[in-house]
Amino acid sequence: MGVFMKIMKFGGTSVGKPERMFQVAELVTKNDEPTIVVLSALSGTTNALVTIGELIAKSEREEAKKQIEKLEEHYLHFVSQLLNDPQSIEKAKAILAEHFEFLTIILKISFSEALNKDILAQGELLSTKLFCIYLEEKGIDHQLLPALEFMSIDGYDEPQVGSIKVKLTQLLKKYKAKKLFVTQGYICRNARGEVDNLKRGGSDYTASLIAAAINASVCEIWTDIDGMHNNDPRIVKKTMPVEQMSFDEAAELAYFGAKILHPASIWPAQTFKVPVKLLNTMHPEAKGTTISEKAGSVGVKAVAAKDNITAIRIKSSRMLLAYGFLRKIFEVFEKYRTPIDMITTSEVAVSLTIDNTTHLKEILKELEPLGTVEVDKDQVIISVVGNEISQTRDIIKKLFGSIVNIPVRMVSYGGSPHNISLLVSAKHKIKILQQLNKGMFGLD
Ligand code: ADP
Ligand code: ASP
Ligand code: MG
Repeated sequence: MGVFMKIMKFGGTSVGKPERMFQVAELVTKNDEPTIVVLSALSGTTNALVTIGELIAKSEREEAKKQIEKLEEHYLHFVSQLLNDPQSIEKAKAILAEHFEFLTIILKISFSEALNKDILAQGELLSTKLFCIYLEEKGIDHQLLPALEFMSIDGYDEPQVGSIKVKLTQLLKKYKAKKLFVTQGYICRNARGEVDNLKRGGSDYTASLIAAAINASVCEIWTDIDGMHNNDPRIVKKTMPVEQMSFDEAAELAYFGAKILHPASIWPAQTFKVPVKLLNTMHPEAKGTTISEKAGSVGVKAVAAKDNITAIRIKSSRMLLAYGFLRKIFEVFEKYRTPIDMITTSEVAVSLTIDNTTHLKEILKELEPLGTVEVDKDQVIISVVGNEISQTRDIIKKLFGSIVNIPVRMVSYGGSPHNISLLVSAKHKIKILQQLNKGMFGLD
């Protein structure tokens, strides 16, 4: 096992319609290289499952039942369009019956977080099983690898890279003669052995973890757009794909809000130097984006926005020349396992941002003895990312020259050589992304 295997991950829209699944089958059988195909749930399914879980949690079981029935209808229709052979259709219907029966049984059980994770896992379990039935109908030899047998996270929700490698390698050894494997993205087992997941958008993370585990030749992420664009195409009209970027640049963009990649999906591939390619299922001939150790060019590549940020300012008169002040602050965040994204300091105050507010109340309580604490919710981090951006001539002038009439709450420059981050109120997000598109990229 090793460098002669590739990973192809297909997101929700790439498998969301029967005709897309036909195309996925074509794409994965085009090359001779042994391939592991990672599939997301059909588009809309995970959202529907989230809603069903929320309804059950609120004891709105009648409404949950209606939603389950609606989802089942959708799948019955999907199967009728995906498959031709009556035997395959029967097989697929039996699978649907099994999974939807499970959801219906859950309606009768008292709700728990563990049960919710079981609900959320149904999407990927269904998409992979249906895809395998389609491959079988077409006579395409393949093997389903159940992700729950090898993908795992520890007590801190971190993937267990060593164990994933051992288990996956063993599993692949069992099927030496096979060349095409199919597995579920997103789902895994946790430290208690329960079904869990890698958080929303986690199929990218699965693909990268598998690529790292088997030292794949490439990790292809197939989606509904031709690669990483210079700006968020959902918000800004004119955006352009970036042909090449480094792991560091891609990791910063993913972490700071470019939805095309799960925030943590770059580091596994980066650690094992597996190039990542972002490709478009609808336009397979498009170049897409290649992410490797090479940056391609120096300078600004893209901007991204990270939502739901909370800024905290701690002002202390005693900070004047006081050492140990920052340590005390950091210890509070460490205690509550809350990562800090941005930080700026002056002689008398520290401003920092977090996106996980689960323990905000406790954190604020423990910060209070250190000084005056102010909190600003509804902020966004705008990150300008590029190779050696901080050494790019006139970058700051250009950046601030682009921004008109938008107050900037924080600026972080020089922490990473590839990133300049600004914090602004969420109400200015659209405007600032548009202004940066014009000012930094000349795109209107
Ligand atoms: P998938 O279901 O294939 O995982 P996602 O919806 O998670 O697809 O990610 C692809 C989407 O990410 C695109 O359709 C696009 O709207 C959005 N997106 C946000 N920022 C960017 C960006 N900088 N470049 C490309 N796509 C982006
Ligand atoms: N199906 C999951 C989600 O919608 C995982 C993924 O698509 O990557 O979040
Ligand atoms: Mg995604």
